[in-house]
Amino acid sequence: MTMDGILPFARLLLERSVPDGGLAVDATAGNGHDTMFLAKLAGENGQVFSFDIQEQAIKSTRERLQAATKLRLNERVTLIHDSHEHVRRHLPDGAVVDGAVLNLGYLPGSDKSVTTTPDTTIHAVRELLNMLKPGGIIVIVVYHGHDEGKVERDALLSYTRGIPQEEAHVLEYRFTNQRNNPPFIVAVEKR
Ligand code: SAM
Repeated sequence: MTMDGILPFARLLLERSVPDGGLAVDATAGNGHDTMFLAKLAGENGQVFSFDIQEQAIKSTRERLQAATKLRLNERVTLIHDSHEHVRRHLPDGAVVDGAVLNLGYLPGSDKSVTTTPDTTIHAVRELLNMLKPGGIIVIVVYHGHDEGKVERDALLSYTRGIPQEEAHVLEYRFTNQRNNPPFIVAVEKR
């Protein structure tokens, strides 16, 4: 396929917003794939703050980082066992965020009842937008195959579509003719 798929496009946006030495947030650490990606982008002088409400996800992310022994990624990552709507209280005062990612839904291979929820997701996006640098991007990957995902999708879109255009550019990137509710991206770039 010539067009970027959903996950490659999400990563492309993060690559553009998180410079070497930058500060990034993974608001849903899960199994740590995005945290690892951000840690490599931020480089040895950068910082990544990763949140998850499940102890299992924090453990799994820590193990993934530790397995890449030579890269010493865990030295630049702070793992936070808390909900992402509290992002501000865990970052240094005055921190400016270069880029952030939220991979919504539930942890693959785990308890499907622990899933992201509309209120906390929107709260986290709002907080992150306040802390974002101009030109910084929040990438949200929306999974809406499950019932709660549909409710979250609708609430999120209602919020992001209402962000004043003077404040941010808001993009939706999705394939519209695929079966089974494939994930899509909402990206918010601060002006
Ligand atoms: N980005 C992950 C990866 O690379 O493996 C996958 C994330 S998974 C789709 C969603 C994660 O969000 C789950 O691990 C879940 O525990 C977490 N989560 C749900 N609600 C949360 C909240 N309020 N704050 C932080 N994490 C949350």
